[in-house]
Amino acid sequence: MDYDYLFAIGQDSHRFRSYQENEFAPEGVQKLGGVMIQGAPLLEANSDGDVLLHALTNAISGITGVNILGAKADEMCLSQGITDSAEYLKEALNHLHGSEIIHVSFSVECKTPKLASYIYDIRLGVSVLLGIPVESVALTATSGEGLSAYGRGEGIMAICAITVRKAREV
Ligand SMILES: [Zn+2]
Repeated sequence: MDYDYLFAIGQDSHRFRSYQENEFAPEGVQKLGGVMIQGAPLLEANSDGDVLLHALTNAISGITGVNILGAKADEMCLSQGITDSAEYLKEALNHLHGSEIIHVSFSVECKTPKLASYIYDIRLGVSVLLGIPVESVALTATSGEGLSAYGRGEGIMAICAITVRKAREV
């Protein structure tokens, strides 16, 4: 059987919240790919600041042509109080109209938090959100070697590439 495949990328970044010198910086719990990362600095955002789900949502918009992050997510966040990035992802998925995501590849750059021990959990969490096997979600992380703002520990940047099998026109 013949299928058409599409490929798209999405990107997102957030800076860590800054605190005054004498201000107590709470031990944060930052959501990444829908997974709670303990002891991670919180990211600045109106939403939960989940850079991985935002990059994925943007990649899906790269297929559908319907942008969710920006005006639509701001409206969901500021008017409806929806801060869970999984809801923005669901909104993007609604526009796939039967086309299926068959592979997801994340590339993350940050000095902190250290993601190595969370990689499987994040892959699993994203696979559950998408309803695809964990083997179809990959994630690599680089410390950035101090070369960029992310590598210097000022925030996190994520790129997401997805492969989609197009719905067959009937
Ligand atoms: Zn974002």
